[in-house]
Amino acid sequence: MHVTQADFSARFPVATPSRGEQFIRQTSFDRPTLVLDIDAVETQYHALKAGLGRADIHFAVKANPAREIIERLVSLGSHFDAASRGEIELCLSLGAHPEHISFGNTVKRASDIAFAHHAGLTLFAADAEEELEKIAENAPGAQVYIRLIVEASGADWPLTRKFGTTRGKALHLLAMARDLGLDPVGFSFHVGSQTRKPEMWSSTLDQVAAIWTDARDAGFALSLINIGGGFPAFYGEEIAHPTTYAAAVMAQVEARFPGARVMAEPGRGLVAEAGMIAAEVLLVSRKSDDDLCRWVYLDIGKFSGLAETMEEAIRYQFTTDRDHEDTGPCILAGPSCDSADVLYEIRPVALPLGLKSGDRILIRNCGAYTSSYSSVGFNGFPPLDVVAI
Ligand SMILES: *Cc1c(COP(=O)(O)O)cnc(C)c1O
Repeated sequence: MHVTQADFSARFPVATPSRGEQFIRQTSFDRPTLVLDIDAVETQYHALKAGLGRADIHFAVKANPAREIIERLVSLGSHFDAASRGEIELCLSLGAHPEHISFGNTVKRASDIAFAHHAGLTLFAADAEEELEKIAENAPGAQVYIRLIVEASGADWPLTRKFGTTRGKALHLLAMARDLGLDPVGFSFHVGSQTRKPEMWSSTLDQVAAIWTDARDAGFALSLINIGGGFPAFYGEEIAHPTTYAAAVMAQVEARFPGARVMAEPGRGLVAEAGMIAAEVLLVSRKSDDDLCRWVYLDIGKFSGLAETMEEAIRYQFTTDRDHEDTGPCILAGPSCDSADVLYEIRPVALPLGLKSGDRILIRNCGAYTSSYSSVGFNGFPPLDVVAI
């Protein structure tokens, strides 16, 4: 469970955010702060790109909308996947070309579609009749792809139920798009976030390929397959190098969709390892003298950036200045007065026996879905601060 610095460096000689760690060690913070190493984002972009080959990378902006990240990715030629007017405006204001921004949310406000259309966006997602009607009305003639629902792949953070349509409706939606004057170009899906192994993609890709074949047989000249996100970050369990992983996914895609235009939308896999949170221990206690576990309360919790600890799905790694000491099991909790604000209890975390209030604690590889999930200040605790280096 606990991975030492040495183990970590050995696995990730390139992407280790050591600049971030050095910066944190030289700086004092008055609140939990996410330190983003923008060069590490660039390194990871190149690593993923090397494996994805001819696929276009559309960074899923929701994973981390820091201006410095978007700016750097624009300079590298990345494309973007946006979910709202706000994300589109952010990308445009930092120089992204409108035709390089997809509007990938299947639940869009009609006025946001009109805004996107007037701003020059040409590619929209849909998974329902009403959404196609909204797009046809507010972005006439636009390209659309139909989001498909896929079975759970075993991802650590599954995205299976809320979005997508079934095989039974997919062709109906393509036909409806065409009848509404839209240009139905293909399909999208999301294999589930933090899909640790490339082999876990195969059954999902089979499901999508079957529907692709149905559509081609029905006369739809599909050209685009959007493979979504799912690219993993290192949270302590072994994962492949990003280039190896991406190449293994692309090989499976090429085998099923030869010649199609491919879009990939990494969020977590692009930015998670570039971020490290500097946090502080506020209290260490035992509920009774014979308690086996200590309770460790941090100055950051579920509402201030660590929402992905929900159901203990994502297991962050912690580093303290006492990592040479023996460890014991701890229940980890946030600072707010909400009893849901417990981070890890089912599987306690091993932390040094000498850990005490006032100690700094670093949370590794948390550049994705932390600042963007932080509340504005629930219970008066400041939201996660962000510093780009
Ligand atoms: C969130 C999201 C992504 C990014 O997923 P990751 O698993 O973080 O890579 C990609 N595409 C869509 C449509 C999303 O909603």
